Amino acid sequence: MGSDPKRQLLNLLEWYREAGITEYFVLGSEGGQEAVEEKREERVSCPENEELLLKVREEIGDCRRCPLWQTRTNLVFGEGNPCAKVVFVGEAPGEEEDKQGRPFVGLAGQLLTKLIEEVGWKREDVYIANVLKCRPPGNRNPKEEEIEACSPFLLKQIEAIKPKVICALGTFAAQLLLGKKLPISRIRGKVLLGWKNYRVFPTFHPAYLLRNPKQKAVALRDFEVLKEIAEGEG
Ligand code: SF4
Repeated sequence: MGSDPKRQLLNLLEWYREAGITEYFVLGSEGGQEAVEEKREERVSCPENEELLLKVREEIGDCRRCPLWQTRTNLVFGEGNPCAKVVFVGEAPGEEEDKQGRPFVGLAGQLLTKLIEEVGWKREDVYIANVLKCRPPGNRNPKEEEIEACSPFLLKQIEAIKPKVICALGTFAAQLLLGKKLPISRIRGKVLLGWKNYRVFPTFHPAYLLRNPKQKAVALRDFEVLKEIAEGEG
């Protein structure tokens, strides 16, 4: 960082954005630090999780652990509520995500947001990430070695948040979190015990739903079940 305070602040905000933290509280003339802390507490009641997520982002750094760094525009870390009850996990960033550095912001992302809202949540209530943090060229499938290099960061994000349930969007996320190569058609809509005994709920990837719109009703039912699991007792 340079010595210009404005530049320092912009760099800091950019660093927070990359770590998926997009809400800040600005000190006004009234209230002071205490009021800011209080307001922050209201919104983020798990600063420990937030801290852990920042550490994961720091650990990734300007990652070059697999060849995908060479073709990425932006690394897409993930974003959302550090206290989320549900973490959505997709496959990898697409073109728009690569451009913006944010997960699920293209057409498939808009559909995901719609499904989240259909069941009464807001996008800010949940956390969204991918198995891979960089876009595979031409949106090809992730390679084994890329998943091996990148997935430890996703798992650390999950450990930081400790959600009640993880919604695996599509085959790659489901296979990673369940440790089994099962077709999504066989496991979709079921609650299964996966990595570290987290509850994993696989459903269709929204990109699949864009190609197969008739399945949207099935996906919506899945999201309703997901909400019951996330908000239920136990
Ligand atoms: S995909 Fe993951 S492991 Fe590969 S360069 Fe990007 S952040 Fe690193």
